[in-house]
Amino acid sequence: MNQTILLHKRPAGKPLLSDFKLVSEEKPEIQAGEILLKAIYVSVDPYLRGRMSEGKSYVAPFELHQAITSGIVAQVVKSNHADFSQDEYVYGILEWKEYQTSRGDGLHKVDADKAPLSAYLGVLGMTGLTALLGLSEIGKPQKGETVIVSGAAGAVGSVVGQIAKIMGCRVVGIAGSDEKCDMLTSEFGFNAAINYKTTGNMRKAIATACPKGVDVYFDNVGGAISDAVLVNTNKFARIAVCGAISIYNNTSPPTSISVQPFLIKNSALMQGFIVNNYAAKFPQAMIKLSQWLAEGKLSNTETIVEGFEQIPQAFIDLFEGKNKGKMVVNI
Ligand code: NAP
Repeated sequence: MNQTILLHKRPAGKPLLSDFKLVSEEKPEIQAGEILLKAIYVSVDPYLRGRMSEGKSYVAPFELHQAITSGIVAQVVKSNHADFSQDEYVYGILEWKEYQTSRGDGLHKVDADKAPLSAYLGVLGMTGLTALLGLSEIGKPQKGETVIVSGAAGAVGSVVGQIAKIMGCRVVGIAGSDEKCDMLTSEFGFNAAINYKTTGNMRKAIATACPKGVDVYFDNVGGAISDAVLVNTNKFARIAVCGAISIYNNTSPPTSISVQPFLIKNSALMQGFIVNNYAAKFPQAMIKLSQWLAEGKLSNTETIVEGFEQIPQAFIDLFEGKNKGKMVVNI
């Protein structure tokens, strides 16, 4: 039999285990021109929360009672397809199923000898591309500038901070525990880190950690944390709005400050982005990320949860900050 995870109910606020359903179905058989894939690593990502709601976004909502999809590294276990051989590994946006068939559309081969397979969901996947391209295309950090990143100990944030260090910046991270803050300063070389859960006055803490003000803000969380960063921005600051996890589960409208006065006063740039905007730059970006990883300049930090049936819990745990680096599930 083949285990599958369906979206059972649309979450109201924080996602719950009861919003998902684990079912068993027949293991699929391949037809001509198809391959049989076995899931190896499944990525759980905050953006999936948006797809679980009904509202229109930049990607269509998931359908109720259908398998959820996310980035997955899978192994070809049978092939009737000329371009894929048995035992090869691929990455694609695939269904939360132990086994599934594919005609190969949208699949990319990945090399298990070049990097651990899970890295293709993290630093060598969407995570790394989001960090590098959001930072360089919108943040445009210059050597000696101050870069601050929220969600700093997570998948994207930890890579953003490390790249900003490679670029010669002063780097400050905002994260949700002392242990995470220690990791940022001692393992990743951040200049300072702020635990937003224990800091009473975030505006003051940011001013102290950024004595020359903030030149670049890489925003993963939105809400009150971002308000506190905004009031500390410098003239011509650049704010790359990558995510807003602090408000993804809101059931009432957020109450953030008005950004216009800060943008006007500082002639600052604030721009949202979706990593796929920069698809044409992926190949070059991948070369850089692979090089930094091979040289030991970038760390592939991840939290690996074991077992197919743990996928929904791993997803829910993102909103509790239970991960350090990229959260992946090993099937
Ligand atoms: P992640 O940072 O690895 O995981 C989520 C982290 O968010 C948690 O570990 C937690 O860390 C923090 N968090 C949870 N609830 C929070 C809250 N209420 N306030 C502040 N922090 C909270 O996830 P990721 O995959 O790297 O994604 C980070 C952000 O980037 C997300 O907003 C995501 O939607 C966005 N993203 C955007 C793109 C794009 O193309 N624009 C692509 C990928 C990701 P703490 O312990 O620090 O709270």
